[in-house]
Amino acid sequence: MSEERLKKFVDSVSKLKGVSYVAAGAEGLPYLVGGTERENAEYVAAVASSLYKSINDLTTTLNLGREEWSKVFYPEDYRMLMFEYDQLTVAVKYEQVLEKIIESLVNNLKRNAVVKCYRCGNELTFEVVRCPKCGTRVPFTDPTCWSCGADLRLKECPYCGTLIFNDGGKPSFITLLIYKIKRIFGG
Ligand SMILES: [Zn+2]
Ligand SMILES: [Zn+2]
Repeated sequence: MSEERLKKFVDSVSKLKGVSYVAAGAEGLPYLVGGTERENAEYVAAVASSLYKSINDLTTTLNLGREEWSKVFYPEDYRMLMFEYDQLTVAVKYEQVLEKIIESLVNNLKRNAVVKCYRCGNELTFEVVRCPKCGTRVPFTDPTCWSCGADLRLKECPYCGTLIFNDGGKPSFITLLIYKIKRIFGG
């Protein structure tokens, strides 16, 4: 189950424009990698668990508390987010502009969410779409746009185009009606 979840996460996230790589490994062994910087990904996957442990030891020593994840800030607007999942350490290197998207998708993985379109059955847990108001990329599962604040509880399924809730559920007739009226009057 969790192995399959992680594979889906790596597949989706490593395809996002602006993501250099996603690397998962344990105890010096690379387990799963994806992305454009393949060689770096292999290396990071191998050292991820010891690197993550070092960062955590350091923050514990400095009394900074233990976080859900750690981040490494690169020059030139790149970041690396590291977290633990099912005995593996996962590292994602991405362009800073993707920060909110990556955090949201990592949360979906960590809470083992499974979001599927009620109509076509395609999985949307790690899917990224465009906000219809401002055009920014947002995770399908997000209820609001992180950039412009638009209410995105209802969105079109990227596979079948049906208007569905961000949890994949079917909206009622009344909900759809209100949504359409609001769109017409710009609410
Ligand atoms: Zn927006
Ligand atoms: Zn669908």
